[in-house]
Amino acid sequence: MKLVAIGAGQAGGKVLDRLLEHDARHPGTFLAHAVAVNTAEPDLQALDAVPEESRLLIGQSTVGGHGTGTDPETGRECAREAESEIQSAIDHAPTSSIDGFVVIAGLGGGTGSGAAPVIAERLRAVYAEPVYGLGILPTADEGGLYSRNAADSLQAFVGATDGLLVFDNDAFKSSGETLSEGYGAINEEIATRFGTLFSAGELEALGDDIAESVVDASEIINTLEGLVSVGYASEELPDDAGDDGGLLGRVLGGSDDDSIGSDAVVQIPALVRRAALGKLTLPCNLASTSKALLIVAGPPEHLSRKGIDNARSWLESEIDCREVRAGDYPLPDADRVAALVVLSGVTDVPRIDRMQSQAVDAETAETSEAESEDAMQDLIEYGDDSDGDGAT
Ligand code: GDP
Repeated sequence: MKLVAIGAGQAGGKVLDRLLEHDARHPGTFLAHAVAVNTAEPDLQALDAVPEESRLLIGQSTVGGHGTGTDPETGRECAREAESEIQSAIDHAPTSSIDGFVVIAGLGGGTGSGAAPVIAERLRAVYAEPVYGLGILPTADEGGLYSRNAADSLQAFVGATDGLLVFDNDAFKSSGETLSEGYGAINEEIATRFGTLFSAGELEALGDDIAESVVDASEIINTLEGLVSVGYASEELPDDAGDDGGLLGRVLGGSDDDSIGSDAVVQIPALVRRAALGKLTLPCNLASTSKALLIVAGPPEHLSRKGIDNARSWLESEIDCREVRAGDYPLPDADRVAALVVLSGVTDVPRIDRMQSQAVDAETAETSEAESEDAMQDLIEYGDDSDGDGAT
């Protein structure tokens, strides 16, 4: 599908950078235009792939290019003040030939957290195409302030979009390295999963000979709603997988059997099970999914229709949902087969419950700290009875 992408804040810009790189490595292009928006000048300068002219510094009169200091309210204000500038930066894109927009942000900080819902709202008011969000949740150990920012922003962002794709840093951080050391690998994971989803619906590069089974943009649009989590698994093809005389040659010579136990090179149902039951971008209870989309990507000769149908039936029963779409994404030069499982409208998400209680605890702690500061002030002040209650 063709998208205009807007990265807000530091994480939003960095992820946009990775998506642009992912796009450049694949046939066709799903990013019609990319804009990075930030209140912090150094963060904009640190970007690689976003073109210089598409980096927009906002809120200069308020924060002077120094960022919001993790304050989403400032991020919101800066975005509101710069709405028309952001709009003009987006209008450079051929917006008449796109399928939608995606606004990307880390929700735990200040700029992205505050600005992303404002930008999404504006886009939705101006354009007829759907507006999606890609929201990154902080790790639990980033603390109460980040959780509170993210809990508030998540609520606003989901309301301002036609579907919010969520990525939980907490689920993907690896032990033994700091979070910032791990961002490289995490951002690559984000680009692989969401880049595969967006590029799957981009059919221009496939030429005229498109099989009916290929996923298109309308199927993606019809699937995305509410909170969206994505599972992914891939398997490298052996070097001789394309040789006509080898094992694959026999399998591809007409056999469409991809059930477990057959000698197909990649067992699609097994791959799909790994994608759905492995790490999800937002860990959730699969049974709470309202719509799902299964995409199997790889060299066309490895995309067994029967394998995909079997995998789809399994997914339908596993998530107990009847609206499950499935299709393939042919990538003639790929060295692997990948399965992407998109779970849309999920409602049972313990991670969000935990983040919300961490946010409430942070608020309670802040209130009681303020109260005890007031009490201390009352205790040490004397000689001024300005409130007229007779006490000194
Ligand atoms: P902002 O610039 O004020 O919007 O704040 P940041 O984007 O720096 O940080 C907000 C959240 O995003 C925090 O929870 C960070 O852990 C997370 N974050 C920052 N940089 C990255 C990144 O490169 N990748 C990912 N996945 N998360 C990041």
